[in-house]
Amino acid sequence: MKKWLTMVFLPVVLLLFLSFPFTAYTHPYIIDSYDVVIDVGHGGIDGGTSANGVLEKDLNLLFGQKLMKELRQKSYHVGITRLHDYSLSDDSPFPHLRRHMRDLTQRKLIADALKPKVFISLHVNWSKHNKRRGPVIIYQVSGKSYHLARIVQEHLNSYYNMKKRPQKGTPYFLMKHLDMPSIIVELGYISNREDFRLLTDEKAQHDIVAVLVHAIEEYLLLYPADEA
Ligand SMILES: [Zn+2]
Repeated sequence: MKKWLTMVFLPVVLLLFLSFPFTAYTHPYIIDSYDVVIDVGHGGIDGGTSANGVLEKDLNLLFGQKLMKELRQKSYHVGITRLHDYSLSDDSPFPHLRRHMRDLTQRKLIADALKPKVFISLHVNWSKHNKRRGPVIIYQVSGKSYHLARIVQEHLNSYYNMKKRPQKGTPYFLMKHLDMPSIIVELGYISNREDFRLLTDEKAQHDIVAVLVHAIEEYLLLYPADEA
């Protein structure tokens, strides 16, 4: 008797389940709003700065991947401009532009398509003054970018034990042309011995990413609306 009941009920329940429209609302792959786009600086032919055989493009990628993973674990919707070592300018539909401009316009196209609440470019600094060290956050002059920069700068300052202020970045093409709050995070100076150690040490990398996650969380909590 039980077996007979199962044979009748199971197809009916399955049919109801499959035809019920709630699946459309819970589909895990439909993302209509991004919280964060991580822009991984340089790549491919463009290595960025370097020291002791370590290239900026590789550090940017490493930090970008770790940051994406940590944010996704906290259920944020995260996009990223590159996941491998390649030059974004290779994908550009504008062959007449210089390579650097092709690279930047690709990053802008990604930002415009995903429309995240925040856009964060990861870079590493260099100076001929090898005592210069610490994180530098550069922000888009308009709107909320300053608040994002201030929060990220404060969090990183406490990790690096420094008292730096974020800097205005008017001439920077990418930030000038983005609609959402956007910042450049110069994670540290590859030319400074202590910063080099932090940037290349696995434990420190993990800690720096945790600091960035806290800062982004704080910003999104304080400034939840998505206009710039
Ligand atoms: Zn750079």
